[in-house]
Amino acid sequence: MPTWNDSPPPTPSDFSYRLIRVPPTKLLHCVILCPKPTGTPTHFFKGHTMPCEGKECPACQEGLLWRWHAYLPCLCTPGHEKVILELTAQACDQLTAARNEYRTLRGLEILAERPSHRPNGRIRITVAPGLRPDALLPPCPDVPAIMLHIWGLDDTKLTSRPGKLGSNRITPAGQNGDDLIQNIGTMS
Ligand SMILES: [Zn+2]
Repeated sequence: MPTWNDSPPPTPSDFSYRLIRVPPTKLLHCVILCPKPTGTPTHFFKGHTMPCEGKECPACQEGLLWRWHAYLPCLCTPGHEKVILELTAQACDQLTAARNEYRTLRGLEILAERPSHRPNGRIRITVAPGLRPDALLPPCPDVPAIMLHIWGLDDTKLTSRPGKLGSNRITPAGQNGDDLIQNIGTMS
């Protein structure tokens, strides 16, 4: 017999988020969905940004340095596209004052840009005053689960699956996606 429900079953993870970086030549306008940043040490390894895998990390074994990156789920305008915004530690620090003031980042409207217009130039964040009402925002997704999915990693054991790295792994480019990098492998 079928089981009938009055609403769709909850999904454990929403993977419809596209990974982006702050573009070099455009102002990015986002509303943050998470209460606080989720970050991890990463390596630029074999042409891609990948998480440090700890004890058995192949990049560490090759002596590569790591950099911490934060991954913030956001609604990006125009179009309210759901994205994961990759930020450097320095860029993330610029959100600290707002987080202290509002006790959360969720609902915060930000403008992000690279004033040097270089792809890896420093990121400047401008925070708009006030928070967007929580009820008008989609729920904060499971960021670690999405990032493991993007990186092609198993969520029980951080073991890379060869052949999945660096591909366009979530969604095709959105309407405004031309200058938003889907593949973060281009960073240094
Ligand atoms: Zn490592």
